[in-house]
Amino acid sequence: AKASGRSGWEVHDPAARDDTADRLRLLEQLRHAVNDGQLRLHYQPRFDLADGRMAGVEALVRWAHPVRGLLAPGEFINVAEESGLIRELGAWVLEEAVAQAARWQDQGVDLQVSVNLSARQLADPGLRDWVTTALARRGVPASRLVLEITETALMSDPVTAMTTLTAFKALGATVAVDDFGTGYASLAYLRRFPVDELKIDRSFVAGMTEDAGDRAIVASCIHLAGAMGLVSVAEGVETEAQRDALIALGCDLAQGYHYGRPVPADELVLPRARGLLG
Ligand code: C2E
Ligand code: CA
Ligand code: CA
Ligand code: CA
Repeated sequence: AKASGRSGWEVHDPAARDDTADRLRLLEQLRHAVNDGQLRLHYQPRFDLADGRMAGVEALVRWAHPVRGLLAPGEFINVAEESGLIRELGAWVLEEAVAQAARWQDQGVDLQVSVNLSARQLADPGLRDWVTTALARRGVPASRLVLEITETALMSDPVTAMTTLTAFKALGATVAVDDFGTGYASLAYLRRFPVDELKIDRSFVAGMTEDAGDRAIVASCIHLAGAMGLVSVAEGVETEAQRDALIALGCDLAQGYHYGRPVPADELVLPRARGLLG
């Protein structure tokens, strides 16, 4: 349908108008998708660099779009965030991730599951109760759950972030700062937040074997994490050379295509179950 001047918000740049119409259409479809079972979670493994053991997985949302195929979050998370639909989407992700954690627990597989939270979710006063209820209903201890918050989201509303993170810590969940190094958090500031993990942004990891500057940034993030008693996690590890450099620098955990891409739960190669067949 062509936009008429009737609505009063007609935009003169035709490309911008198309863009608005596209976004509205996408939002409508996404609203439907959330209620209609079109969302999926893929899981990417993370490994302990000291012993090579699989230590957990990160849940990453996908949209099985009926026409466009499987969409990555870059295609729809912003629309969800801007419209407030992230609340329902995020609730689904949490519920599903906790349900999957319960299935692994039943199989005797000991894995932490990381879930991404956006700035808007962090500000939702119902979030903490939501997480508590989801865990209780499935009988999953909070220690199995890692909540990832980007450095930028943390800084966009530090007061709310502090309250929410403190509540998560009290529950016994792990809190991770995602995309670390890309925002503007001062170290003095970061120190006051109750976080457990620093996830070093993959842009630095990508350059670390060729670029001395990137390598220095990765090294100082690892050092900083250690000094503050936090777990260091390198994301976007794609090569053996990067892995070896990270081991040499004393990084704790690593995640990336070198180890495995995000896949549906049933395609993950799981660590051996505890207590089965000796
Ligand atoms: P992120 O949390 O930084 O997640 C890591 C992203 O890097 C994922 O992209 C992952 O597929 C990709 N990745 C992992 N290893 C490698 C690698 O070795 N090389 C490269 N080039 N990429 C790698 P994805 O799945 O497209 O997710 C993009 C972003 O969308 C995530 O970035 C996260 O911020 C957001 N996101 C994903 N799932 C959710 C969700 O359930 N809720 C919210 N609020 N945000 C989500
Ligand atoms: Ca993440
Ligand atoms: Ca990240
Ligand atoms: Ca990212």
